[in-house]
Amino acid sequence: MTATSKLPKRKFDVVIVGAGGSGMRASLQLARAGLNVAVLSKVFPTRSHTVAAQGGIGASLGNMSEDNWHYHFYDTVKGSDWLGDQDAIEYMCREAPKVVYDLEHMGMPFDRNPDGTIYQRPFGGHTANYGEKAVQRACAAADRTGHAMLHTLYQQNIKEKTSFFVEWLAMDLIRDAAGDVVGVSAIEMETGDVHIFEAKTTLLATGGAGRIFAASTNAFINTGDGLGMAARAGIPLEDMEFWQFHPTGVAGAGVLLTEGCRGEGAILRNSNGERFMERYAPAYKDLAPRDYVSRCMDQEIKEGRGCGPNKDYINLDMTHLGAETIMKRLPSVFEIGHNFANVDITKEPIPVVPTIHYQMGGIPTNIHGQVVTQNADNKSEVVNGLYAVGECSCVSVHGANRLGTNSLLDLLVFGRAAGNHIVEFNKSTTHKPLPADAADATLARVARLDNATGGEYAQDVANDIRAAMQQHAGVFRTQAIMDEGVTKIAALRERVNNIGLKDKSRIFNTARIEALEVENLIEAAQATIVSAAARKESRGAHSVDDYGDTPEHPNGRNDTDWHKHTLWHSEGNRLSYKPVQMKPLTVDSIPLTVRSF
Ligand SMILES: Cc1cc2nc3c(=O)[nH]c(=O)nc-3n(C[C@H](O)[C@H](O)[C@H](O)COP(=O)(O)OP(=O)(O)OC[C@H]3O[C@@H](n4cnc5c(N)ncnc54)[C@H](O)[C@@H]3O)c2cc1C
Repeated sequence: MTATSKLPKRKFDVVIVGAGGSGMRASLQLARAGLNVAVLSKVFPTRSHTVAAQGGIGASLGNMSEDNWHYHFYDTVKGSDWLGDQDAIEYMCREAPKVVYDLEHMGMPFDRNPDGTIYQRPFGGHTANYGEKAVQRACAAADRTGHAMLHTLYQQNIKEKTSFFVEWLAMDLIRDAAGDVVGVSAIEMETGDVHIFEAKTTLLATGGAGRIFAASTNAFINTGDGLGMAARAGIPLEDMEFWQFHPTGVAGAGVLLTEGCRGEGAILRNSNGERFMERYAPAYKDLAPRDYVSRCMDQEIKEGRGCGPNKDYINLDMTHLGAETIMKRLPSVFEIGHNFANVDITKEPIPVVPTIHYQMGGIPTNIHGQVVTQNADNKSEVVNGLYAVGECSCVSVHGANRLGTNSLLDLLVFGRAAGNHIVEFNKSTTHKPLPADAADATLARVARLDNATGGEYAQDVANDIRAAMQQHAGVFRTQAIMDEGVTKIAALRERVNNIGLKDKSRIFNTARIEALEVENLIEAAQATIVSAAARKESRGAHSVDDYGDTPEHPNGRNDTDWHKHTLWHSEGNRLSYKPVQMKPLTVDSIPLTVRSF
């Protein structure tokens, strides 16, 4: 009898790991179709990071200014610095109005225009008429859009009788001899017991890994568990070098101030009070794409025009908007200013710095949410039984840089698409048998911690990973800084193997959970630093000082050698590459030559 055979087992049609916007959009589609669905979450569903999304959901409804999905498609391709796959981008932009109206019909409390239509605000990089003028495309519920969306989805799931497993940590994917995924192992936090969830289909919706950095707008639970699970199961991670810095994290606190602030008219000013974005991006100004605005802010600070005694931040000025607009459209921002910066934003500017916000890369998928790997001929091959959606996935609609509001949209469009595809897939499949050693690797991970005498605190190792990533893969990158980071992170991986547990108790032992999470952090961190150090160009959020503007490579982007997706493989810590999909589904592709903001 193997150790695995003694474990408690549960069987579902579909197991979803993650109860954020993407996981719950998918589960809703499945539960509505009558499938037996389990959703596992580390926290109560409505505490998932989606709840923190403020600004809006991008969709070309055209309620407030002329718009159509072709413009949205163009903006997204351009915003991605041509690394986004154009088939997936077309699919997302075309489906956008439908998924927003779906939400409206579910009861999502969007802000309204006087004529009753959904209120839409401008957002960075979103334009009408192919870059000619700003457009109002972000569908918003004040500055609490994610909150409203997550609660709407949760309520609908309750109505459809989705089974939630709250405070469970999924640990490892179970693959059989053919490589098909047949479920996951998970630990119940309340008891410390390991269980097996068997499923015809497993869907990863575990969100981002923003907590691999020290300064982050992300929730503490964003430790990249899905990435770790995929990496350990032999699935590569795509484009992990691309991390978005949000221009406006509260200086010193990391808490996000939505781009909706600038959408409503807020202005970035340097120590001279100058609206410096007018110089860098005369057309888009403060609403240029995030990677660009972050770099301009960094440049101002580097050139000595930062604000404050240490000249190390930029001011975000909302004083001219008026208290009434602020309280109506940005009530949470007002509270954040008060609580985290001791600033009354109706009267004075608030100090901000670019802060880690979003991972563009993740688990490679196609537009149905199916996880794909590359075969020996570098052709995409589906991993049977495994899907991924949301921030942990890389379908790749965001390429090298995501436009604001396109993530909530990505969750809805691909959550629904994966749901629909799984419904079809489930009709023609039965449960495959569990391999005899299904959870042996998981049990070995737990046993190592239980048997360790001595060893390091998980927290210390995690903090050192975060510090190293902040220093070596931050907004300011040079080849030498990244190369040094590769060595540091490799050394930290050794330390992860030496983590010990002082308290070996089982019931709600959060130290044990944290130790297990660090094993995921290190996969996401190593994927990031190794992929970054290898990419010898500047593109989107990956901006490297060594690869600057030259006549041959404007803005440092080198399409001849680097117009390709990175794949990082945990086993062997090696890289491979795959082509960017430049062929949209129905429209003309946007050629690489269109540039500038
Ligand atoms: C402060 C902030 C503001 C944002 N504002 C916007 C915005 O206005 N517009 C926009 O488009 N995007 C915005 N984004 C980005 C967007 O909100 C996220 O990318 C998106 O919500 C991620 O959703 P998700 O479903 O992928 O994952 P999440 O919402 O992060 O949920 C992840 C889920 O996975 C579960 N989980 C993780 N690991 C495990 C495990 N091992 N076992 C069990 N469960 C697990 C968690 O418990 C959670 O339920 C914002 C992000 C932040 C941080």
